[in-house]
Amino acid sequence: MTVRAGREFLAVPGPTNIPDQVLQAMHAPAVELYSEPLVALTDGLLRDLGGVFGTATRPFIYIANGHGAWEAALTNVLSRGDKILVLESGKFAVDWGDAAARLGAEAEVLKGDWRRAVRPQDVEARLRADKAGAIKAILAVQIETSTGVGNDIAAIGRAIKAAQHGALFMVDAVASLGCVPFAMDAWGVDVAVAASQKGLMSPPGLSFIAAGPRAREANKKAGLRTPYWDWAVRDGGSHYQKYSGTPPEQLLYALRKALDMLFEEGLDNVFLRHRLLAEAVRRAVAVWKKGNVVDFQVDEPAARSDAVTAVLTNGFDANLIRIYCEKKCGVVLGRGLGTMNGKAFRIAHMGHVNAPMVLGTLAVVETALKACGVPHGDGGVAAAIAWLSEHVKP
Ligand SMILES: *Cc1c(COP(=O)(O)O)cnc(C)c1O
Repeated sequence: MTVRAGREFLAVPGPTNIPDQVLQAMHAPAVELYSEPLVALTDGLLRDLGGVFGTATRPFIYIANGHGAWEAALTNVLSRGDKILVLESGKFAVDWGDAAARLGAEAEVLKGDWRRAVRPQDVEARLRADKAGAIKAILAVQIETSTGVGNDIAAIGRAIKAAQHGALFMVDAVASLGCVPFAMDAWGVDVAVAASQKGLMSPPGLSFIAAGPRAREANKKAGLRTPYWDWAVRDGGSHYQKYSGTPPEQLLYALRKALDMLFEEGLDNVFLRHRLLAEAVRRAVAVWKKGNVVDFQVDEPAARSDAVTAVLTNGFDANLIRIYCEKKCGVVLGRGLGTMNGKAFRIAHMGHVNAPMVLGTLAVVETALKACGVPHGDGGVAAAIAWLSEHVKP
């Protein structure tokens, strides 16, 4: 038997739930690609995306997913043979570094641990040791979707500054922009990368790059530039150049609506909502953990992100729990990525999520733990409710 008919709850860390208003915004006819409203739409999106990134520069919009934006970011500032430093705290930073290596860069991974955040002092020490300034760029991920680690980008930025190193600081904010604060200019980030389908609540297919003055300077000498990704082309005068071709009109309508919704709620409220709901999830996991099987993937509480929580199931098949949630109850959890497959499941709490979605998801996970015979502390959902009832005042 199943109890899954009804609205499916998508609790995967991308693509995330798309608000109905955003879906409806796409239901509009194509327009001529130089039309004034479309040009104005692009202008507004670039201005507002810059605001979300926390930068005074105008970002670039790519018709690509996050992987495409990774490649765009790398090719715009690097040359073949350039050395880069990859800050490991999960799969995505390493994969971004691999992409750089395949493009011809020399990628060094600053060994990390998938159960904790990047340590800024390790970054500083490595940079101080690079007396010749061989390292041209540093790659970091703000929220590691694979592990749920939230890295302190401001602190890493300070460490780079303290080391007085000239490498470009490049940050993947794909799973964090629109979920937690990001302050590109204030944090000394030179290149920031994001995508439409996570915190920005839009369909997959768009990605965004903000490039600061140092990155734009590096662009002039970057040997890996290609015509399609090149910022110099996209900075050109015509609207057509901004997309290196036809604009993705309906996706832009969706993004406009999504940004309007975020601004209407207020970004500070959006971040607070994420923090409150994330903490509700953590309260539940902390109770389940008492059965000595379920555990947080991330050891340090401060490094647990407000966008996704990875849950270990030591010795129990995490996929069994995940499949029970999906097939029996209609809640779709994230699977363990790479080496974590079968060892962890992930609860996403990013984007268009509210209390019933998170509490419903937690209640189903607790049901799954019971039904699948996974030892766990009782009352995880009650702890989540207690947290919310204390912090969301009448
Ligand atoms: C999802 C994600 C990506 C990859 O984005 P795609 O759109 O799937 O290519 C990169 N980095 C992080 C941190 C992500 O969460």
